[in-house]
Amino acid sequence: MSKVIFWILIISFICFEKNAYSQDVLVKAGHVFDPVTGSWLHGQLLEIKSGKIKAISKIKKENKQKVIDLGDYYIVPGLIDAHTHLFLSDPTFEKDFSKGLLEFVSKTSLKDRIALGERRGHSLLMKGFTAVRDLGNSGRIDPRMIRKPTPRIYSSGPGHVPKWGQFPPGTSEKIILQEYERLSPEVIKRLDNFNHATVKLYADEEPNHTLTSPEVLKEWVSRAHANNLKVAVHGILPKAIQAAIDAKADSLEHGTNLDEVQMKQMASQKMYWVPSTGSKILTRPELTEIRPHHVSQELSLICSKIPKAKETGVELVFGSDNYFSLEKFGIDFGESTMEALIFLSECKVSPVDILRMATLHAGELIGDKALGDLKFGSYADFVVYKKDPLNDLAILKSPYKVFKAGQEVLK
Ligand SMILES: [Zn+2]
Repeated sequence: MSKVIFWILIISFICFEKNAYSQDVLVKAGHVFDPVTGSWLHGQLLEIKSGKIKAISKIKKENKQKVIDLGDYYIVPGLIDAHTHLFLSDPTFEKDFSKGLLEFVSKTSLKDRIALGERRGHSLLMKGFTAVRDLGNSGRIDPRMIRKPTPRIYSSGPGHVPKWGQFPPGTSEKIILQEYERLSPEVIKRLDNFNHATVKLYADEEPNHTLTSPEVLKEWVSRAHANNLKVAVHGILPKAIQAAIDAKADSLEHGTNLDEVQMKQMASQKMYWVPSTGSKILTRPELTEIRPHHVSQELSLICSKIPKAKETGVELVFGSDNYFSLEKFGIDFGESTMEALIFLSECKVSPVDILRMATLHAGELIGDKALGDLKFGSYADFVVYKKDPLNDLAILKSPYKVFKAGQEVLK
C-alpha cells in the first residue's frame, strides 16, 4: 500500500472516531477506582467531552442534567493487555510453537488473519479490555486499521530478529520476511521514520536458541530512544535477559529465567517486566488432551518470580502473550485473556496491584498519558461492575457495561 493511501485511511479512521464520540456525556458513578492510591473514590460525577474525561468531581447536589446513572456500580479504568497477538495462532497449542507458527503463517490467508484479529479485538472489548499492545507476529497487517469495534490498538509492527525469528531453522527467507524484520544495519535506519510508538526486538529467538549480540541490541535501543520510541524486548534465556537490561530497553517481555540480581538492575533503571501468563487457559481440565506438559511448569516458574520482583521494586505490567484459538472449545479470546489476568492472584499479586498492572502501569509503558486512569484528559474508557472487584476478582469476568471514548460498547 502506498504511504499516501495509508495516511488517508488512518486520517479518515480518526475523523470517523472523532465524530462518533463527540457527544457530551455525564456519568454518575457510585465508586471509581483510582489506580494511583489503589482505593475507591465514592460518589463521583464524570464529565465526558469528545471521548475524554473533562472533569471528575464529588457529586454535590442532585444534577438536573441528564446523566447516565451508575450510582450503584464500581467503575474501573479500561483494562489494557500490554502484550497480545491478535493475528497469530498456534495450531499445536505450544507443543511445538515453531512448527505451529510456520503452519499457521503458510496456511492462513490475509483475509482470514484480519478476520481473526477482528473477532479477538471485539471479544477483548466485551470483556473490558479497551486497549492492547499488539507485539508483532501480525504478518504485514497494520492492526490499527481494523474497522470493527475493538480496543485501542498500539502496535509494534513486525518484530526484529537476528536469524530465523521463531520459525524452525531452515525456514525460507521469504516466509521469515513476511513475519519479521532483520536486525540489520539497513533496517535500523527505518527507526528514524518509524510508523509505530513501540519497537519489538528479540534478544533471543526462543524456542530457537539464537541470541542477538548485546552490542547490536544496545545500538538498536539507543537509536529507537533517540527517535522517542519505546522498546519492548523478548527475552527468555538468561543471557538474552541480561542483554535487554544492559541495553536499557523499556520492557522485558516474558523474562522466564529472570534472576534476583537482574531484578535489582531492572528496578534501579525503572525497566518494566511483562511476565506472560496467557497459557494459563491451557491448564483447564477440559483442555488436557491438547496441553503440552511444560505449560504448567513454565507458568509456575514465572509465577514464583513475580512476588520477588515486586518486593525488589520492579514495575510489573499485565501482558498475556495470548495467541490461542480456543473457540471450538467454547472459549473466546477475551475469556482466555481475562483468565491470564486473574491468574496473577495465584502469584501472590493483590487485587489492587492486578488492576494497576492492567491499567496505570500498562498505560505508562505504552506511553500514552490518556490511558490507564480516569482523570482530567484521560480517555473515557471504563468498565462497570456490579460488585467490588477488590473483594472478588471473579467479577472481572462479567462486566456489566463497557465504555470506550464515552460510548457504551457493551450494554
Ligand atoms: Zn508474544
